[in-house]
Amino acid sequence: MSLASVKEIIGNARSEGRYKLLEHESYEVLRYYDLPVPKFGLARSVDEAVALAEKIGYPVVLKVVSPDIVHKSDVGGVIVNLNTSADVSEAYKRIYKNVGERAPNARVYGILVQEMVPNGLEVIIGSTRDPTFGPIILFGLGGIFVEVLRDVSLRIAPITVYDAEAMINEIRAAKILEGYRGELPRDKKALTDIILKLSKLVEEVEEIKDVDLNPVMTYEAGRGAKIADARIIIR
Ligand code: ADP
Ligand code: MG
Repeated sequence: MSLASVKEIIGNARSEGRYKLLEHESYEVLRYYDLPVPKFGLARSVDEAVALAEKIGYPVVLKVVSPDIVHKSDVGGVIVNLNTSADVSEAYKRIYKNVGERAPNARVYGILVQEMVPNGLEVIIGSTRDPTFGPIILFGLGGIFVEVLRDVSLRIAPITVYDAEAMINEIRAAKILEGYRGELPRDKKALTDIILKLSKLVEEVEEIKDVDLNPVMTYEAGRGAKIADARIIIR
């Protein structure tokens, strides 16, 4: 991958009139910026899905790839914890069936086969391009912390390592990352790294409007973090 191929992915989406990059396109862009994405591939048949799963290694997750579906789980478009080739082939067909029933008008480009990552503390790292200030970076804990409590920190890009660390430490729920009730501290260094790489990405690729990394599974200190779902919107 090169910056030219990132631009090509965006150019393709634009020429097809799409504002949302497809799942695998988003992961390719993120991977170019060395962000921690699970192994993945796009399958267009049961056989391709099984071959990809064997190459990636079990367990895997299957997800519908469609420009018309925003919340994949809502239409039965995500099936996790697949451990055998039989699981994969069944899940592949089930996703097409679910989507056919619950989103009959959605165009389906294929099925993403993705490495299943272990559960971790879920955080959200995102960016939105403000017409006045340019890209703004957001950090928060997943689930109710962002959606209900609006407990997030924000910075205007580009940001330094100190900004990134401050973003992580200034949310009200920051203590949760330190470890509580016998849990070990989480890998803040890995989160700092993701925030900085995201800042670089949105600085360099001006065509990007929003990036939403949600959830980012965060493991114990020293064990890193992995992006389990990503959305990239272009201008
Ligand atoms: P949606 O479009 O519904 O947000 P996601 O890709 O976020 O779909 O998948 C739904 C949920 O499935 C995620 O929030 C996460 O809990 C779980 N999940 C998705 N991908 C993975 C993965 N690669 N490894 C582990 N869990 C995953
Ligand atoms: Mg999601």
